[in-house]
Amino acid sequence: MAKLRILKEGDVGLRLKSRAVGEINARIHTLLDDMTETMRAAEGVGLAAPQVGVLRRVVVIEVEQGSVLELINPEIIAREGEQHEIEGCLSVPGRQGYTHRPMRVTVRALDRNGTEQTYVGEGLLARAFCHEIDHLDGILYIDHAEMDEEA
Ligand code: ZN
Repeated sequence: MAKLRILKEGDVGLRLKSRAVGEINARIHTLLDDMTETMRAAEGVGLAAPQVGVLRRVVVIEVEQGSVLELINPEIIAREGEQHEIEGCLSVPGRQGYTHRPMRVTVRALDRNGTEQTYVGEGLLARAFCHEIDHLDGILYIDHAEMDEEA
């Protein structure tokens, strides 16, 4: 595994739309492994491939320590309720802000074996799903957050 460099706000790569993954091959497996290592080293709860300069629809999330969710071509298929909570981003260091997100989301994605999985996330996990999937479309949370500049 290798730790990758995380792009910071202002890098144009964070604003581009990522392409869907076709074949899930060894390169995608390496990308997933490297993204998990990078997320853990940075003490984040999620990382999207465009944050490491790879414009593919790949996300890793680790809200519960030791249980990494690997999402390939993820899609939010249901949203319920709402929450207004604090959020941050490894690409926007030293800042945080409040966002409006659904309280509960259902996500469909492929796992590293190409098997379709469905995940239901609530609270922090729901926020992480929304935040990371937004990255795949070039959206940063600061686009719609009330920033807390004291953070
Ligand atoms: Zn982020």
